[in-house]
Amino acid sequence: MESLWSHSDEADLVKEYEKQGVTGDVALRVYSARLLGKVRQLVLHGGGNVSVKTKMSDVLGKAEDVICVKGSGWDMEYIDPPGLPAVRLNPIQELSGLKFLSDEDMVNAQRTHLLDAKSPNPSVETLLHAFLPHKFIDHSHADAILVLANQPNAEELCREVFGDFLGVVPYIMPGFALAKASAKIYEKNPHVEGLMLINHGLFTFGNTAKESYDRHIHAVTLAEEYIGKKPLKALTPLEGPAMKAGEETLMNALAPVIRGLYREQSGKDWVLHHRADAKAKEFASSKECETWSQIGTATPDHVIRTKQKPLLLDLQQWQDPDKLRKEVSQALNTYCESYHQYFETNKSAKGIDKTELDRLPRVLLVAGLGLVTIGKTVKETRISADIYQHSIDIIHKSFSLGDYVPLSSSDLFDMEYWSLEQAKLGKSKAPALQGKVVYITGAASGIGLATAQLFAEQGANLFLADRTADKFNEVADAIRKEANVGVATRVLDVTDESAVRQSFEQLVQTFGGIDILISNAGNAMQGAMGEVGMKELRASFELNFFAHQILASEALKRFLIQKTGGVLLFNASKAAFNPGKNFGPYALPKATVVALTKQYALDYGSYGIRSNAINADRIRTALFSEDVLKERAKARGLTPDDYFRNNLLQQEVYDTDVAQGFLSLALAEKTTGSIITIDGGNIAASPR
Ligand code: ZN
Repeated sequence: MESLWSHSDEADLVKEYEKQGVTGDVALRVYSARLLGKVRQLVLHGGGNVSVKTKMSDVLGKAEDVICVKGSGWDMEYIDPPGLPAVRLNPIQELSGLKFLSDEDMVNAQRTHLLDAKSPNPSVETLLHAFLPHKFIDHSHADAILVLANQPNAEELCREVFGDFLGVVPYIMPGFALAKASAKIYEKNPHVEGLMLINHGLFTFGNTAKESYDRHIHAVTLAEEYIGKKPLKALTPLEGPAMKAGEETLMNALAPVIRGLYREQSGKDWVLHHRADAKAKEFASSKECETWSQIGTATPDHVIRTKQKPLLLDLQQWQDPDKLRKEVSQALNTYCESYHQYFETNKSAKGIDKTELDRLPRVLLVAGLGLVTIGKTVKETRISADIYQHSIDIIHKSFSLGDYVPLSSSDLFDMEYWSLEQAKLGKSKAPALQGKVVYITGAASGIGLATAQLFAEQGANLFLADRTADKFNEVADAIRKEANVGVATRVLDVTDESAVRQSFEQLVQTFGGIDILISNAGNAMQGAMGEVGMKELRASFELNFFAHQILASEALKRFLIQKTGGVLLFNASKAAFNPGKNFGPYALPKATVVALTKQYALDYGSYGIRSNAINADRIRTALFSEDVLKERAKARGLTPDDYFRNNLLQQEVYDTDVAQGFLSLALAEKTTGSIITIDGGNIAASPR
């Protein structure tokens, strides 16, 4: 493994932080933590931690010895000084004199001695850092180290690979006992430059940030070189029918079924992610996977992201959704029963009182398809996919080198049900639409964009379609950053039937399925009915009616496979009830959209599928070109501004008001076949 240390980057960062009043020690701590954090073979998603022992002034200006250690919830790749809370060193070092310290007392002591009460909780491995004397300490769960640390003869191997360079610590759960044991092993051999923790990871230390970092890279390099000498074992491919089906076919068939079954089991919405990775596919499609993947996680931390083991699927029946559902449901039930067993066995063996977590797997290994992850947010699915991709590599290399003997299920249970570990997942209340997938057309601007933003704020993942690519990606990026949800885009003409059908396949490949369709795209066409050309009229029907039907029928197909109900929302128009003069080419298809709304409500109500529409009027959007606007206003004898305020409430109606209407209808679980007006009040256009 290559060192990424750059003296000029280091100096720049130190200088930059100096201006902000951050000391050189802390700046260097940030610098090398980030270097470790950005290499995936070393650190994944909040894994690992670092510390520096330094001096800081308290409120009286008195210099105190402190340890700045990574705070819980911070990612090393993006760490900043606030992510390294300072804890008074002496009082927590004195804890090493105790024989026993409970987790609660440990967390309390760490918080009590913080210099700044607003700091995040210092890492659960703080005491390990504090009990060692070194100024800089780095800890990772590096892939190559885990290959060695999970061998049955790890201690022996460690001597062979690292000589006297690393001490070896047997597996103990993170916390006070591990901190004490590690310090003791170091004190026996004070010349060691780091510690290998069996079944867990690597610590290195040094007097400078660079010394500790260099030792870390050196240890990982030695491990990589050693592992590299053994060729990878060849995997034996499975021979079931799914092996020839093709990834897209399998994902399209499987994902909506999985979403449906998860919803049925948990009452919550889930999103899927297929990680396109040839190695993961080869592993998932191998005979070896049947045993190798069912042993356990490579480091204890991973259990909260991936559960102890993935669900294996070698599908036989993907062509028929009902048969597929039965097949997957059986496999899922077996998994859940086995999880329940694991919970009950460990709970009674330990004589403790815990509440069982949900039993559903987070990682699926599907023959012919590969690695699929499932979570309540897109972010969760990405984290478990990243972790499992590395797990596959670790497991494969471990078996090629010898064996793979990670933590026992009893130790893993302690970790999974450890309150300090569960705290990492956060307990904040889920937004109303978390896990939902919403397809919105005409989403790059106006009502579609306002609706996308509002649904994202509620936690929904978005599939956005628009006919223009102009600024579309910028818009999507902004929503993704702001709301931290999944956002996919597709440039699409909604009148192109085959393109629409393909877009639904893309949607399933991206998120696994759909819950809400907002069929919003449309365009206003004018003309007196006696004069309008058939070509123009048909074109208006294509966009303002048939496109809605194509979209709705495609959404419906997925709703019926998921069996989770579903929501169809149409942007109709007040013209259905109150046509405007010479606006027939627009009013006619829009009137049929109102009929379409009701027809879907009627035909599919018994499946829990709801169909509703919004009649909006006079919203300033691209639909109203300057010319159309002037003409419409003139037709009513008004200026453009008065035209927009010409309603009962005498207030202009905005695209955000229409978005609110769509959201209300999406949430109104007992409303179907309904049309609501968002027009500031227009008695002539009110539904009757
Ligand atoms: Zn660790």
